[in-house]
Amino acid sequence: MKLEHHFAELGEAFYAKTSIQPLLKQRLVEFNQTLAHSLSIDIKSPQTKRILSGEVALADSLSMVYAGHQFGGFSPQLGDGRGVLLGEVRDAQGGLHDLHMKGAGATPFSRRGDGRAVLRSCIREYLASEFMQAMSIPTSRALALYTSSEAVYREQPEPGAMLLRTAQGHIRFGHFEYFFYQGKEAELNQLIEYCLRYYYPHCLATDTPLENMLIEVVERTARMIAKWQALGFQHGVMNTDNFSFTGETIDYGPYGFMEDYQPDWVCNHSDYEGRYAFSRQPGIGLWNLNCLMRCFSKHLERDQLVAILQRYEIALQTHYETLMAAKLGLQPGPETNDLLSSLLAIMASEKMDYSLFFRLLSYLSADEFDLILDEVIDRERMRTWLFTYQRARLDSGQSWSQTRSAMLQVNPKFILRNYLAHEAIEAAEQGDFLPFRRLLSVLIAPFEEHDESNRLAQRAPEWGRSLEVSCSS
Ligand code: AMP
Ligand code: MG
Ligand code: MG
Repeated sequence: MKLEHHFAELGEAFYAKTSIQPLLKQRLVEFNQTLAHSLSIDIKSPQTKRILSGEVALADSLSMVYAGHQFGGFSPQLGDGRGVLLGEVRDAQGGLHDLHMKGAGATPFSRRGDGRAVLRSCIREYLASEFMQAMSIPTSRALALYTSSEAVYREQPEPGAMLLRTAQGHIRFGHFEYFFYQGKEAELNQLIEYCLRYYYPHCLATDTPLENMLIEVVERTARMIAKWQALGFQHGVMNTDNFSFTGETIDYGPYGFMEDYQPDWVCNHSDYEGRYAFSRQPGIGLWNLNCLMRCFSKHLERDQLVAILQRYEIALQTHYETLMAAKLGLQPGPETNDLLSSLLAIMASEKMDYSLFFRLLSYLSADEFDLILDEVIDRERMRTWLFTYQRARLDSGQSWSQTRSAMLQVNPKFILRNYLAHEAIEAAEQGDFLPFRRLLSVLIAPFEEHDESNRLAQRAPEWGRSLEVSCSS
């Protein structure tokens, strides 16, 4: 493993030197062999193992400082309160990936927090990020999970853990806000140069590098959120300090994956006003980008910034329509959009399971559509929809079986249901990681049948429908 330290070269206005503080009797319990391999990391080598678990202090490991708009209000100084950036590694194509340890102990940015993470939240992040990766959604990824015998206090004592994760970058919208609002122009410029050099080098060769980089950030963010919406992913805490400048999904906290379809669903029980409700995510993405663009008001004209932002809506809409059309096995267009809106209205009033419906629709032949009618209360409304849908499928010019196989590649059989995460966590807290591994194995290949694991594709039982998740973990 060859660690590089590019972010560290920016200088100490950007971070505080911080080492991992290992937990008591820390133990590596899970590692992501596929990811490790792609980064040429042999996590089983004793030396690498010692470095990655914090037993060897690295001179250049650090916690980043940033700011952020949290639930609409500006916090001028946040930072990695419980995370340490160990450095960067390269994949076979030469691309850089951060190695970042979550739950590594207190940092100068911990405020009143303990700098730790509990096993529950590390498992939730591991499962969600690997599932998102399997769904081709840009995301941070889980490389290794460490447990310990150390208790971490939340509402009650819980087992402490650490998660080693990767991401192309951990630079957040809030990094720019931190320097902009303090009027630190030199550092802001340094950050711009850094991002151009390491994340958007192709923009450097153009006449307007900054403008082109920002256009790409807007478009990446739009595409990421379109994918969230199509999958039914709700982030839960879309603060600008949780929004990545590289357009990756980061900071998995009280997230959720849509089960019964409810557009106004709020997964985070600490989000009392529903600011980050599922249906509000596209609008919040724009709000966050607006915060980001303000940071460049000394670099670009107002009109230029507005023009960059105007690309968001169209990019998101186009991408979302394409993804949803594929879920229906149709070409995007006004008729498909009409079919989609009437379907979503039915799903909302019938509280249908969002992903299971699309999966069932993918399997069925037209003469089996009656099976869907058994799932709903308003059979007539559903029958009318299915009739129009069937006509659109027949008019598409594709054979039914061709469309069927395409649909089975975009509509997952498995999603990360909250009750399944809960079961995996309860077992892991007792030292049994088998349910976690079994769940992970279907989530990383969610389009495959895994007939032996059919139970993991089912709707939540009664007890699993009211589990709460919130910010504290
Ligand atoms: P989040 O809601 O996860 O984005 O966290 C907001 C801020 O709180 C970030 O700056 C985190 O680093 C910090 N934070 C969260 N949990 C802890 C903790 N247990 N100890 C210290 N800082 C924390
Ligand atoms: Mg955060
Ligand atoms: Mg967090």
